[in-house]
Amino acid sequence: MSTIAANLQAVEATIGAACTSAGRARNEVQLLAVSKTFPAEAVVEAMAAGQRAFGENYLQEALDKMQEVARLQPATPVEWHFIGPIQSNKTRPIAAHFDWVHTVERLKIAQRLSEQRPPELGPLDICLQVNISGEASKSGAGEDELPELARQVAALPNLRLRGLMAIPERANDEAQQRAAFARLRALFDALRAQGMALDTLSMGMSGDLGAAIAEGATIVRVGSAIFGARNYE
Ligand SMILES: *Cc1c(COP(=O)(O)O)cnc(C)c1O
Repeated sequence: MSTIAANLQAVEATIGAACTSAGRARNEVQLLAVSKTFPAEAVVEAMAAGQRAFGENYLQEALDKMQEVARLQPATPVEWHFIGPIQSNKTRPIAAHFDWVHTVERLKIAQRLSEQRPPELGPLDICLQVNISGEASKSGAGEDELPELARQVAALPNLRLRGLMAIPERANDEAQQRAAFARLRALFDALRAQGMALDTLSMGMSGDLGAAIAEGATIVRVGSAIFGARNYE
């Protein structure tokens, strides 16, 4: 078995155990394999082990990798998720080449993605990134601006608002880690209580996916636990 296949098995076991202890069904949580900085060959190895959803942060790297993956594995459909910061002059290729975008934090970016989404692809699935740690340096919409942003994004014709995403700052212990995820969950529940049809909580990475699943994550974004340590970013 390749290292990537073995790592995927170990991550699968972690997700399974977290679901069991949270009393959740395994199929409530999707594994997004974050392949940033790793080559197309690594993606193809993960595909051979059954993985189909991949997350990328850097646009040009992602576009090159998609092309190479399609060349190596033309018959296998793959889902690509953009999870990096978005510059407004880069929205067109994101709208054209990705299935999901997890990092929308401003209306202007959402409007551009909607205008630039090729109609034949159907709506682009969107998560709003929320700054739950409240630090000025972190990206994401502020909690107070979230309800209005969600309403505006949900009204855009070529997007489908699916839910919320966050990258909490590293916590010192499990309780603190869970509190940050619980915060995002509460914002998600509040939007749903207002009638928004959201179904996605994108939270949890290699180091904290158990805590995220305990607090209701429906997508965990896992990089290094699958592909290994990154040499650069
Ligand atoms: C890199 C990255 C991940 C994966 O992080 P790991 O710690 O390697 O699992 C998840 N989400 C986002 C937004 C990232 O940039």
